[in-house]
Amino acid sequence: MHELSIIYSVVSTVTKAVADQGGGQVISVRLRVGALAGVERDSLLFGYDLATQGTPLAGSVLEIEDVPVRIYCSSCACEQTLVGVQSFRCPVCGRPSGDFRSGRELAIESVEIETPQSEQAPC
Ligand SMILES: [Zn+2]
Repeated sequence: MHELSIIYSVVSTVTKAVADQGGGQVISVRLRVGALAGVERDSLLFGYDLATQGTPLAGSVLEIEDVPVRIYCSSCACEQTLVGVQSFRCPVCGRPSGDFRSGRELAIESVEIETPQSEQAPC
């Protein structure tokens, strides 16, 4: 499953980032996934639970932000957002376009980490 290898790479990137900043527990990871990235959201979520076991990401939440496909339409001379990925035509004038401006993203948008509080002795 190709989603699982993506998740493992996300987990290793985040694990390294946590170590770099001195440890902590990951609360959530937000991914930007384009409509054309070719990954299934359910498979990502399923793989996440497996891949995070025994890592600082265990128990954290994977949030997936869907990125719509945007094309540049030369007739309208502007970017248009496609409503689906069935046809790559400008939703305004109907002209086909292969000039994609977004929709292939697969990137870590943000990571929320709870850093351990340095505990002070009460007295
Ligand atoms: Zn157009």
